[in-house]
Amino acid sequence: MQTEATATLDSTVYDRKHPYSATVLDNRILTGSGSEKETRHIELALGQSGITYLPGDSAGILPTNPCAMVDQVLQNLSFTGNEPVKDFYGELTDLRAALTSWLMIGKLSGTTLRAWATHTNHPDLTALLQPGNKDKLDAYLWGREFLDLLEHAPAKIEDPQQLFKLLPRLAPRLYSISSSQALYPDSVHMTVRVVRYESYGRTRLGVCSGQLGERAPAGCTLPVFIHSNKLFRLPDDPDVPVIMVGPGTGVAPFRAYLQHKQAGLGRWPMWLFFGDQRYAQDFLYRDEFEAWLANGTLNRLDTAFSRDQAFKIYVQDRVRENAAELWRWLDQGAYFYVCGDSQRMAPDVEKALLDAVATHSGRGPDYAQEFLAAMKKQKRYLRDVY
Ligand SMILES: Cc1cc2nc3c(=O)[nH]c(=O)nc-3n(C[C@H](O)[C@H](O)[C@H](O)COP(=O)(O)OP(=O)(O)OC[C@H]3O[C@@H](n4cnc5c(N)ncnc54)[C@H](O)[C@@H]3O)c2cc1C
Repeated sequence: MQTEATATLDSTVYDRKHPYSATVLDNRILTGSGSEKETRHIELALGQSGITYLPGDSAGILPTNPCAMVDQVLQNLSFTGNEPVKDFYGELTDLRAALTSWLMIGKLSGTTLRAWATHTNHPDLTALLQPGNKDKLDAYLWGREFLDLLEHAPAKIEDPQQLFKLLPRLAPRLYSISSSQALYPDSVHMTVRVVRYESYGRTRLGVCSGQLGERAPAGCTLPVFIHSNKLFRLPDDPDVPVIMVGPGTGVAPFRAYLQHKQAGLGRWPMWLFFGDQRYAQDFLYRDEFEAWLANGTLNRLDTAFSRDQAFKIYVQDRVRENAAELWRWLDQGAYFYVCGDSQRMAPDVEKALLDAVATHSGRGPDYAQEFLAAMKKQKRYLRDVY
């Protein structure tokens, strides 16, 4: 039924170290005006790459830092950008290219702060690193970038190569794939929330989501690779029911699942729980999900829009409201998938799931724990949370 992802064009294998340069086909906002979030639908062309993927996989994007930020760092350190340096593979490049593509000058890391404290002996930084100051240190790092550190504790560097010791490597970011190749053989879709916030008097953007939001129009290219996830696949048995909990961008892989079913690759009865802040602005892919519900591809859809009423309603509340039916599906062998926020949503959904089993099996909380453990062992309680 499903085949494993491969990524070849003749002898070329595209991976994290050798990404494919994919052209952006589409980059549009999904959230409506007035939404507190900016979530985008992005399509990348796979061209002749031969890249394949399956629902449940993620796309890895190698971001670059914005030119203005690179310029400011160069200026602050009194470098021109033309200084020769060696990248992490020992290849010769220049400092501007290194600061653009290799080094993490966005989000400030503790490692950088520690190294800069040693380099500058600045009393404020030294104080933050004293034992017992972890909360203060975390608060300092939150919302700051390398440039903020340079401004707070100015100092020069003799050898630009030192920056490779001071700064972490700019890492790729993963995005759950929101398309099925059975419907879109030549492209890969992503659903990206742009990280954007104000701190210390400046507007900040997430390195990668900010680039996708502001500097990735249709026609430009992005380095991409497929990150396979065999632990988030649809059931091999095409008749097994599937329960999907995916608020916000967590809905991305479930759009891929539904496209896979639409393409005729399985009959899986499907139940989706989706949530976000407001129905009018934040119901991502609303037309598509409603059409799938109308034509029977999606069997059930339960939504939770937290800000549409005086009290907050989340997907976990919908899981609780539908506990009896949920138990019937689980008892029939349904797979239970959760995607999205790892901090609050996923643990709360797990609690709601345990309560549903405890109550409606009629066998209490200990049995619910055993049932969940068995589901995990059978690989039918699957989470892709971040
Ligand atoms: C398997 C997997 C799948 C994923 N799928 C998706 C997906 O489908 N869609 C999606 O959008 N994302 C997804 N992500 C998350 C994604 O990979 C990135 O982590 C996300 O886009 C942020 O990366 P960035 O480079 O834009 O931000 P970064 O530059 O890494 O910045 C994020 C950091 O900014 C800081 N920050 C954020 N908000 C604030 C604030 N208000 N105040 C102060 N500081 C703040 C925090 O330190 C935070 O860690 C997924 C992650 C994983 C691991």
